Amino acid sequence: NFHDYDLIIVGAGFFGATVAERAANQLGKRVLIIDRRSHIGGNAYSENDRQTGIEVHKYGAHLFHTPNRTVWDYLSRFTRFTDYRHRVFTSYRNQVFAMPINLGTICQFFGRQFSPDEARALIAAQAAELEGRVPRNLEEKAISLIGRPLYEAFIRGYTAKQWQTDPRDLPESIITRLPVRYNFDNRYFNDPYEGLPVDGYTAIFKRMLDNPLIDVQLATDYFAVRQAIPSDKTVVYTGPIDRYFDYRAGELKWRTIDFQEEVLPVGDFQGTAVMNYADEDVPYTRILEFRHFNPERDYPADRTVIVREYSRFATRADEPYYPVDTLEDRRTYLAYRKLAEEETGVIFGGRLGTYRYLDMHQAIGAALKSFETEVSPRLIGAERAA
Ligand code: FAD
Ligand code: UDP
Repeated sequence: NFHDYDLIIVGAGFFGATVAERAANQLGKRVLIIDRRSHIGGNAYSENDRQTGIEVHKYGAHLFHTPNRTVWDYLSRFTRFTDYRHRVFTSYRNQVFAMPINLGTICQFFGRQFSPDEARALIAAQAAELEGRVPRNLEEKAISLIGRPLYEAFIRGYTAKQWQTDPRDLPESIITRLPVRYNFDNRYFNDPYEGLPVDGYTAIFKRMLDNPLIDVQLATDYFAVRQAIPSDKTVVYTGPIDRYFDYRAGELKWRTIDFQEEVLPVGDFQGTAVMNYADEDVPYTRILEFRHFNPERDYPADRTVIVREYSRFATRADEPYYPVDTLEDRRTYLAYRKLAEEETGVIFGGRLGTYRYLDMHQAIGAALKSFETEVSPRLIGAERAA
């Protein structure tokens, strides 16, 4: 019965779970979280593979990292972190290179030793083809950062497979996620805080939601129960924003991934957690080998779990994972943003609700902020009115 709750949250991912945790633990409010999936955790959900016990992130590799001390401290209330540091390698024409592009990648690719300054000069000379223009899209931005040869080897094919969109139609923000380093540091992330949850991702959500004031109702689609929710209830909605408004301003484009999972009878398949495949004629973008995320665990020595990722455009029936975010999508999103502002009583949040490429720490940070500025004032206001 929806009347029993002060707050209804749609989606049990990091955004929804953070708001629920705050509303219950800080304000003592009664919260109902519904999710259409049969589990909590949203896309960060993981479970241990039945045959091997290896923790598998069911919606792709999830690496926790953040520059934000507040978010790190907040999440540390619900988990300890391992000292895992993410490193990625990429396979190109049957050779293996370190990603993101660093001095090691540059020396190996051009087949000679470069000092940091020599490498900078080389890339600057290659970037000169832009003739000082401000980069306007992913391709130009990449060329400005790494020059055309490295772009064509490591970025163009991978990006084409991942986004199925001309790199000249993609926003440069996608590529600025990757650092370029003129030293031999091959860590994937620059953030000061990084690690994987000692007991896995799902344990975090169990602890966040472990309060008798919070009820979780799984396998429940918001749109199937929406009519029964009293109109004066505050709702936090973290599903796709275009779906909320019945696509009336058009459809926002998303990319989905097909995960092809296999248990193999070998102790180590590829020697590392993530191997990207830069060649366009390899149909998958990368292979994950989950045992390498948790070298501290006692996993079987003769079996391993791998996942191949195949990327494609999402239809309405697919899980939307990445906003494609072309200029047209931006315009469509702005139309929804306006509708959302007029939708009193409903707060839109999270990756799907704001059509933004959010990492976990950003989803948590956004949820903490939304709680302070939108959710909490509304709940306290409702209390005063009553
Ligand atoms: P979600 O986790 O997507 O949660 C939204 C929830 O809403 C879902 O559980 C969904 O089922 C539910 N929902 C939607 N519609 C309805 C409805 N109608 N009714 C009921 N429930 C509904 N971040 C990192 O920091 N590091 C990484 O390495 C990383 N890797 C990623 C890899 C992949 C392949 C993907 C897809 C994401 C990755 N992320 C990573 C991002 C991370 O998953 C997000 O930051 C995080 O999940 C955002 O949380 P959220 O609560 O906004 O959304
Ligand atoms: N990218 C690439 N080659 C790689 C890795 C990344 O071209 O080997 C590009 C690609 O466009 C990708 C973007 O850089 O979408 C961001 O990479 P990240 O690993 O952050 O993407 P994610 O795995 O989160 O999609």
